[in-house]
Amino acid sequence: MAPSSTSPPTSPPHTSQNGENGENSQNALWTLQDVPGKGKGLVVTQDVTPGTCLLSEAPLITTEIITSFDMDSTEQQLLGALNKLPKADQERYRSLHNNFSDSDPTHPLSGIVRSNAYPLGVEEEVGGVFADIARINHSCRPNVVQYWNPLFEKMTIYAVRAIPKGTEITTSYIPGGVSQERKQILKDHFGFDCTCELCSLPEDKLRQSDERIARAEKLDEMIGNSKNIYYAPEEVMKNARSLLNIYEQEGIKDGRLSRLYFDLFQMCNMHGDLARARCFVKYHCDLKKLAEGKDSKNVYEVLLYVKSPQKHGSYEPDGKWKTAASDVPKGMKATEFANWLWRGNI
Ligand SMILES: [Zn+2]
Repeated sequence: MAPSSTSPPTSPPHTSQNGENGENSQNALWTLQDVPGKGKGLVVTQDVTPGTCLLSEAPLITTEIITSFDMDSTEQQLLGALNKLPKADQERYRSLHNNFSDSDPTHPLSGIVRSNAYPLGVEEEVGGVFADIARINHSCRPNVVQYWNPLFEKMTIYAVRAIPKGTEITTSYIPGGVSQERKQILKDHFGFDCTCELCSLPEDKLRQSDERIARAEKLDEMIGNSKNIYYAPEEVMKNARSLLNIYEQEGIKDGRLSRLYFDLFQMCNMHGDLARARCFVKYHCDLKKLAEGKDSKNVYEVLLYVKSPQKHGSYEPDGKWKTAASDVPKGMKATEFANWLWRGNI
């Protein structure tokens, strides 16, 4: 996770698809190269379609080895772990960007962890430093998402939108927010001024985007409230459709979108509507496959509900929207089907 405007350009370009040991791959999809205004970055060498796995990489070091809050001890522990790695990997680690090289020059190995570590899972405290993934720069409108796959103990990077040849691979270091919030967090935590596609919009377009994002946050809050899901499902459905429109307008393709579908799955299940529950959990599952691969743990976990939504704990058989899973209409035109799915809210 290196905002690499001051990254040392010492690491030779490599085109490893899977990042293992820095070996070049015959099927390279990207290369490490200079990116104007950002230092180094990963750039795709061919057109990439959504759902393509661009990297799958094991960490060089994880923070599990750190057992002390004392900075000197931490530095020693990191040095011990680093010395066990092959020389090439040690060099790759040391060449990563350190945001804290000026403020704390005596703890460079810790600075690299603080600048580059990704959490190994949602809300996970253990982090990992990845030699190639750390080179991916930030965008508030990213073209990939990262996912820690605990089954293989690797971080994967999947394209979530089409990436034309010669385009930089970008991920988001932050969960979202309006432009002022995003810029402040990126400056405070990562030490750079964001000039991404979204933040560089003309003033009026940026204001419109901010208004949509602020509205999306309010809608998301309303939809995530269990009381609303139980007592006002019609309102939740209407707001969910509005939220989906905003995500489409803003090009949001990350976990917020798949979570929206999962919320709708649970709500329909809670009101006995197995037909719509099945559709929404299928959309959720398809997005997870696209962003995390078929062998994602999250995909395995929800596949059961695509087949049998009633097996999820949210199912209430006597709900007011009662349908059977087999009641999903067939042979409808797209707009007709959307009208059915969203209960008239299109
Ligand atoms: Zn930005």
